[in-house]
Amino acid sequence: QKAEWALLKTAKSITADGKHFDVAANIGTPKDLDGVLANGAEGIGLYRTEFLYMDSAELPTEDDQFEAYKKVVETMSPKPVVVRTMDIGGDKHLPYLPLPEEQNPFLGYRAIRISLDRQDIFRTQLRALLRASAFGNLRIMFPMIATIAEFKQAKQIFTEEKDKLVKDGVKVSDDIQLGIMIEIPAAAVLADQFAKYVDFFSIGTNDLIQYSMAADRGNEHVSYLYQPYNPSILRLIKHVIDSAHKEGKWAGMCGEAAGDPIMVPLLLGMGLDEYSMSATSVLKVRSLMKKLSTADMAKMDEIALNQNITNDENADLVKKTTGQK
Ligand code: PEP
Ligand code: MG
Repeated sequence: QKAEWALLKTAKSITADGKHFDVAANIGTPKDLDGVLANGAEGIGLYRTEFLYMDSAELPTEDDQFEAYKKVVETMSPKPVVVRTMDIGGDKHLPYLPLPEEQNPFLGYRAIRISLDRQDIFRTQLRALLRASAFGNLRIMFPMIATIAEFKQAKQIFTEEKDKLVKDGVKVSDDIQLGIMIEIPAAAVLADQFAKYVDFFSIGTNDLIQYSMAADRGNEHVSYLYQPYNPSILRLIKHVIDSAHKEGKWAGMCGEAAGDPIMVPLLLGMGLDEYSMSATSVLKVRSLMKKLSTADMAKMDEIALNQNITNDENADLVKKTTGQK
């Protein structure tokens, strides 16, 4: 296995029937880049920028942020880097940015909701990202998008900051893709409409499952409801992927499920384009993909989505079909 993985480090992720998919890595800070390079990821599918804010004693300056983003896109260039704008709130807090006490923080003031409200913070982050875009292949995505209006407003602010920088003679990339996390059921259901406005989707299963099942992702008493293979979740995911493809856009996944050897075969059958996971899972997933045919996985999905009715049935189906224990 060691020898196989060593060879796979510089290989592309190709299935048994010759289809190529991107196996990318999730990072929290530029320090994680060593692991990404060591495991041969085909890009960064999720850079969680909130750690930049959490590891700091005050709001990080535009220059501090620029340095971090530049380091990541430059190191990965020409491979793509998807940077997610600040996802604070929920269970993530900043000592220097007091948030209101809330009954339901996961349903409250967080992520893009804060960014659209505190535009001073958001615009600083976007300017730092725009400046970094000149140094590699940068893509930007917004977390916790529930409505198309939120995306349009975020894009409008992005465009305003871009125009200002260009006017000042600052070099910025002219083809930065703008996408959204699909982690709120309302956005998943309306993905066919969203796909007309965004450049890509990245499915955040950690939150999408939590919100679809109405089960707190950190509460052990309801952890049995974390059911990635439940047909309801799989149908939602398939709808998101199909909707992206109908508009000629791509769909990825950056939740835990993207690196799960039971989930990957199901996703291959649906044609998910990009799989972003912790760097330590990259070679395992690439090796698994090599053994699977997308046509066979699509046939398996017919049963998983339309005949089986439980999470466990689908886990067993995948194990049997792909020869995993
Ligand atoms: C997700 O919700 O699946 C996700 C990737 O975002 P986070 O885990 O940072 O909330
Ligand atoms: Mg999330």
